[in-house]
Amino acid sequence: MLHIYNTLTKKKEEFIPLDPPNVKMYMCGPTVYDYFHIGNARSFIMADILRRYLIYKGFKVTFAMNLTDIDDKIIKKSIEEKIDTIAVTQKYINAFMEDVIKLKIKRADIYPKATEHIEDIINMIRTLQNKGLAYNKNGNVFYNVSKYEQYGKLSGKNLDELESGSRIEVNEEKENPLDFALWKKAKEGEPFWESPWGKGRPGWHIECSAMSCKHFGETFDIHAGGNDLIFPHHENEIAQSEGANSKPFVKYWVHFGFLNINDEKMSKSLGNFFTAREVLNRYSAEVIRMFFAQAYYRGPLNFSDDLLSSAEKGLEKINNLVFRINNELVNPKQGTNPDFNIEYYRQSFEKAMDEDLNTSQAVAVIFDFVRDVNRIIAENKALDNSFFLFIKEFLTATAEEVLGILSFDTDQISSSIEKELIDLIITIRIDAKKQKNFSLADKIRDDLKTLGIILEDSPNGTTFKKVT
Ligand SMILES: [Zn+2]
Repeated sequence: MLHIYNTLTKKKEEFIPLDPPNVKMYMCGPTVYDYFHIGNARSFIMADILRRYLIYKGFKVTFAMNLTDIDDKIIKKSIEEKIDTIAVTQKYINAFMEDVIKLKIKRADIYPKATEHIEDIINMIRTLQNKGLAYNKNGNVFYNVSKYEQYGKLSGKNLDELESGSRIEVNEEKENPLDFALWKKAKEGEPFWESPWGKGRPGWHIECSAMSCKHFGETFDIHAGGNDLIFPHHENEIAQSEGANSKPFVKYWVHFGFLNINDEKMSKSLGNFFTAREVLNRYSAEVIRMFFAQAYYRGPLNFSDDLLSSAEKGLEKINNLVFRINNELVNPKQGTNPDFNIEYYRQSFEKAMDEDLNTSQAVAVIFDFVRDVNRIIAENKALDNSFFLFIKEFLTATAEEVLGILSFDTDQISSSIEKELIDLIITIRIDAKKQKNFSLADKIRDDLKTLGIILEDSPNGTTFKKVT
């Protein structure tokens, strides 16, 4: 039985969906005005692993991730780039989809966009207004937090604590500093929609309430997101959805921890801000996923090249076995079929994952498995083909399909071997230069060039790029 930590109840709970085996899972997606950063990638990947594990357990998961395609930041970007907001959002939705595919994150079943749900949003705001939970001030509509008694139940704080402890946007039109905008009046030149309160656009929080209700109904199973969204975003979602529908909103709230960079908070001003695509230029998706899977999803995690390199080295051990299995299966042989208790590893893997998604323990099980299989291979001269099929089946079901840290696809293996070979040749060339054998160093560079591989020397070392 899967147990998962529920931020709402603040304890680990047995996972029982509302309508088994169906599971409805919603995750807050990006505001599409820029590339997403590696901290977001951590949340997306860990949610992907949770979703994949639910599928492994036989649940039928419908996964929705919203795209916030109207927002102050999008308007600002459209002014900076001198293109309209639709061009901004299309550009970054495309980039988002590319990065998601590269990170091996399964596509969502539904990607609802805010701008395609304006009517649903307006209807929900009207319901809140009719129930006395929202008020209109000169075309801006605010949620009246003091009218919703349970406000603060997710973040575990009362109104006084929240007021004194949070940075709240100052706005003279609000009756209470914690009140938040449901509908924003359009300023000159801004995109707008017609509404009962005049021209304007939705606030951010109401989008998730309206869109999740539209696609999943009033109550659904899992709502996921980064820790930073607990307050105010998710607290506000609860106030809106439960306020409007008078029904429980979400059964399990799942939150992912922060990612620090070299022990500091990631920020553009500190210059330690990395987009997922920048990191993907240096490490494969499998290495990035392995790195995240080796940490507890709720805790903070530090990102550094040393830690990524060690994830890469660990993965190499697993990939060597994958490579061996593929080679054996190309030339099927008959031989001994050793006594190997694969059920033990399967149960250990499931036990780890069932215990609040303990992916780091699950990865440790995979390492044990690889070590023990390697020992059997070393001890037996000729192993039967069925043995390799058997171990491939286990690795496919667990490490490939749940964790997404390896691939039996031979194309991908050859590309990682290719990279290793080029790195090896670069090392040989560096040695040649050290021994002042410049003619050999130049020959290596020129020969690689004829193969379409360009070496680039810099004070930090030599890198390569492929030209096709
Ligand atoms: Zn949301």
